[in-house]
Amino acid sequence: MRLKAPVRTMSVSAPRMTGSLGPAPRRPSRFFRNVKWLFGLTIGIGAGFCAYRIQQNRFPAAQDPVPEGKKRLLVLGSGWGSVSVLKNVDSREYDVTVISPRNYFLFTPLLPSCTTGCIEHRSIMEPIRSIIRGKRAQAKFVEAEVTKIDPVERTVTISHRAMDDGVKSEQIPDLVEEMPYDYLVIGVGSEVSTYGIPGVQEYGCYLKEIEHAQQIRKRIMDCFEAASFPGIDPETRKRLLTTVVVGGGPTGVEFAGELHDFYVEDLKALEPGLRDQVTLTLIEALPNVLPSFSKHLCDYAEKTLLDEKINVMTKTAVKKVTSDTIYAEKTLPDGRKEEVVIPYGLFVWAGGNSARPIIKELFSVIPEQASARRGLLVDEYLQVLGTDEVWAIGDCTSSHYAPTAQVAAQQGSYVGRLLNQIAERDDTLDKVTMLKEQLDSGSADPNVVSNELRHWERRLEKASSLKQFQYSHQGSLAYVGSEKAVADLSFWGNAFASGGTWTFMFWRSAYLSMCFSLRNRLLVMLDWTKVRIFGRDVSRE
Ligand code: FAD
Ligand code: NAD
Repeated sequence: MRLKAPVRTMSVSAPRMTGSLGPAPRRPSRFFRNVKWLFGLTIGIGAGFCAYRIQQNRFPAAQDPVPEGKKRLLVLGSGWGSVSVLKNVDSREYDVTVISPRNYFLFTPLLPSCTTGCIEHRSIMEPIRSIIRGKRAQAKFVEAEVTKIDPVERTVTISHRAMDDGVKSEQIPDLVEEMPYDYLVIGVGSEVSTYGIPGVQEYGCYLKEIEHAQQIRKRIMDCFEAASFPGIDPETRKRLLTTVVVGGGPTGVEFAGELHDFYVEDLKALEPGLRDQVTLTLIEALPNVLPSFSKHLCDYAEKTLLDEKINVMTKTAVKKVTSDTIYAEKTLPDGRKEEVVIPYGLFVWAGGNSARPIIKELFSVIPEQASARRGLLVDEYLQVLGTDEVWAIGDCTSSHYAPTAQVAAQQGSYVGRLLNQIAERDDTLDKVTMLKEQLDSGSADPNVVSNELRHWERRLEKASSLKQFQYSHQGSLAYVGSEKAVADLSFWGNAFASGGTWTFMFWRSAYLSMCFSLRNRLLVMLDWTKVRIFGRDVSRE
């Protein structure tokens, strides 16, 4: 009993003490409680959705087997265009095979960020087999390069070469095979164009594939480590710390922006002595960088690059490259030409693209393609001129659209849907033919068959009216460094241009939402967070 007394006293005195300090705390307002409740609900639904998608990917539902007796559809490439075809085509209607030397899809818009380690390369790769596994019916993937397309015999020749990674295995032979097709979709993209400029191929780093980004990342570290070598002569150090980017298109500008961020955010802290000695030069043959963007965004981008102390040289065309020097020709305001000589440590070539050899070969074998230069000529349904049932999409085509991921993806979706419609048309035609035969032979009630025939003929008419491809431009975005981006957008037909930090946030959220899978999205977010907290990883690959 005695023990209980103080407890009672405490419990009585506690409210008195609170009361003596002021009024009792007010309950949060109804609005605030609702916001909190909504926030919790959103997080809960988001987490539930993520868990569901992860579960779906880890343990996908059983697939139907490869359909028998269906037409053979070959899809060449595993890039933006081909993967869009694959996502949209109904794999129960075709015997689908994807052929590509790359067994993954690459989210190219974030590739420049991989060169400095802002994003890890695996975060923007999606295995093609996991994409195929998500289809309703099984489809096949063959890791091989297509070396020949024969549109007359309807075959493609494919070649699988064992990876030459220094430990070439004798057990994995080089294989060559000929594969027949009924329908063919060509989405092999383009290759980097050097315009035959001497030295570009030998000494330039490109930025188109994952291995290019890895090579640049390695080369950046090579230059810094060599420049820090004790006793190195100042001239060589200066050269090693000079990076030259040729091509002021989006690839060159975005890479220059990423490299600038690396210098400012990480190198400064790690090697303060070298930071002030690094030089970054961007060379562009035309009067402006980002010539495909609206004029005031070109100016904004150029001003931002200059503020970042990037030496922007416009109206300057590279003519020759040696192992350590770039020779260019600058057009002066009075029209005279001046030679520019720049010793370099790292040289990145972002001068544009041209057709792959396999596409160029088609220019010469198909008479209707004789005038093609940049890519295959296609009609309004993206069918390759001069061929039957061969479609081409993305960068390997020549049209009035820019060679962008946006165009390739829309073309791929269109061809995927078109193929579904063609399958429906063919099935309906079979049904109509069968009913007509029944009617002619009198094997069934003519009234019933006629009614059914009318129904199927209407369906056939609908399935036979194929819509032409129509491109819907959503806008263009480019990162220019210092957490700034430029955007040429189009909303409901209205053009809208902006540049700056808000646009950078828009750029990030747009690209995050465009990432191929939830896995990619989470990995990219983690990479950005990791860099924000710990900085970029400067250790070797
Ligand atoms: P790709 O995506 O290049 O795919 C081609 C596929 O074909 C690859 O899988 C390749 O391995 C395969 N292939 C190659 N040769 C053969 C062969 N012989 N046989 C079989 N398969 C073959 N566009 C935008 O719209 N927005 C952006 O922000 C953007 N950023 C970019 C950033 C960079 C660094 C780069 C390089 C490009 C960027 N682009 C962007 C452009 C965009 O990536 C391309 O337009 C797009 O990839 C074209 O898609 P595609 O399917 O035609 O070709
Ligand atoms: P590009 O063709 O857009 O630009 C190449 C630039 O290099 C041109 O401006 C050209 O004048 C210049 N050039 C060529 N030869 C030169 C020389 N000898 N000396 C100096 N300059 C020279 O190439 P890209 O930037 O690789 O882009 C390729 C395609 O991919 C484009 O369609 C582009 O729109 C798209 N892309 C888009 C984005 C984006 O939207 N953020 C990013 C990268 C690429």
